[in-house]
Order: sequence, then structure tokens, then C-alpha cells
Amino acid sequence: MSRYDVVVAGGGAAGLSAAIFLARAGVSVAVFDRAESSLRRVEKVYNYLGFPDGVGGTELLVLGRRQAERFGAAVLDASIDTVTSTPDGFGVATSDAAHECTYFVIASNKRTDLATALGIELGGFGGRFVQTDDSGATVVDRCYAAGRITGRPSQAIVSAGDGARVAIAIIERIRGGYYVDHDT
Ligand SMILES: Cc1cc2nc3c(=O)[nH]c(=O)nc-3n(C[C@H](O)[C@H](O)[C@H](O)COP(=O)(O)OP(=O)(O)OC[C@H]3O[C@@H](n4cnc5c(N)ncnc54)[C@H](O)[C@@H]3O)c2cc1C
Repeated sequence: MSRYDVVVAGGGAAGLSAAIFLARAGVSVAVFDRAESSLRRVEKVYNYLGFPDGVGGTELLVLGRRQAERFGAAVLDASIDTVTSTPDGFGVATSDAAHECTYFVIASNKRTDLATALGIELGGFGGRFVQTDDSGATVVDRCYAAGRITGRPSQAIVSAGDGARVAIAIIERIRGGYYVDHDT
């Protein structure tokens, strides 16, 4: 049984971006990913900042994963099958292991099963999205959501930015004050 400060469900644009910011702040974070990111279906992404000649969707994920791991995030090729609330956070289980965390981030795009398992009602356009406040927090304490699953525009860079935004909100909650990640 491993315990992390944060477990992220989904290693797409939102989840990996959140993990980069969390890891760089010294927050222990594990990303679980079942390798079904929509980006895997995109041969070339031409609207992602910094890639004037486009970048392969899968390549973007590979680079993002390497970046997250470089700063200390654990990225695990496994599906989270169940999540439950515990007195001090959440318990998550894959097919062969169980883990605990204080904060849980749902970044699973179209898969809303983990959110509904926690009792979160879906809403937004077509009633298909997880509703959050401005910090990315859901109605369940210490459970956040990021990326397309929140109903934000279906663009990779929007999801990446949203993952960063939610990570910073969690970091500020842990530290109890303003946080910025600026390199010099
Ligand atoms: C055909 C197509 C073309 C597109 N072209 C573009 C484009 O050109 N430019 C652009 O900006 N956007 C494009 N998009 C949209 C872009 O891919 C998405 O907006 C973006 O990937 C959303 O990021 P996300 O992190 O929210 O979700 P995703 O990147 O989809 O990541 C979600 C991840 O969560 C994982 N997951 C789900 N449930 C679990 C679980 N229980 N346990 C573990 N992991 C789980 C999934 O396997 C997946 O890897 C395209 C989408 C499609 C479908």
C-alpha cells in the first residue's frame, strides 16, 4: 500500500500537467493512466503553443510523461478501478494494488465513473461533465477535477492549463498561501 499526497486519475494533457506542477512543488503525486487519451488519436496537433510545425498527439503525451517523471511524479500504466472516501482522503484500487491519498484529481476525460462513485452528480452541457468551483474543487472535499471532464473546451492546451491551475490550487491549500512556480 502506497500513500501519496495526490493521486491523479488520467495521464492525458490535464493529468500530466497537474503532476508536473505538483511534483515541482514537492508534493508526492502518482498519476494512473489507462492509455486512452484522445491525443492518441491525433496524428499531429497544430494548435499547441511551442510547436510551430505541429507535434504528434502521442509524442506530446510521451514528452509530458517524461517531464512529470523528471520532477518526481510516479506515472503508472494502470486503470483505477475503484475510489472510496476515507477519513483522511481517498483509497484507490487498481486490478493488483491499493493506494491511499489525501487529494484526488479526476482528469479522466469522458470516463465519469470515478466521479459518480464518489457521489458527484454530473451536469453541464448534456449532463456529462463534473462541476467544479473556480479552484477545480468538486462538491466532495479534497476531490478536484481537471481538463475536458469539467466541460472546458476540448483543446489539449486548455486541458494542460487547467491541470496546472488545479495543481496550484491544491499546492496553495496544502501550504496555506499564495504559490507561484517561476524559474529564474
Ligand atoms: C480525433 C480527435 C482529434 C483532436 N484533435 C485535437 C487538436 O488538433 N488540437 C487540440 O488541442 N485538441 C484536439 N483534440 C482534443 C484533445 O485531445 C483533448 O481536448 C485533450 O486530450 C483532453 O485532455 P484531458 O487530459 O482532459 O483528457 P485525455 O487527454 O483524453 O486524458 C484522459 C486520460 O484519462 C485516462 N483515464 C480515464 N479513466 C481512467 C481511470 N479510471 N484510471 C486511469 N486512467 C484513466 C484515459 O485513459 C486518458 O489517458 C482532439 C480529440 C480527438 C478525439
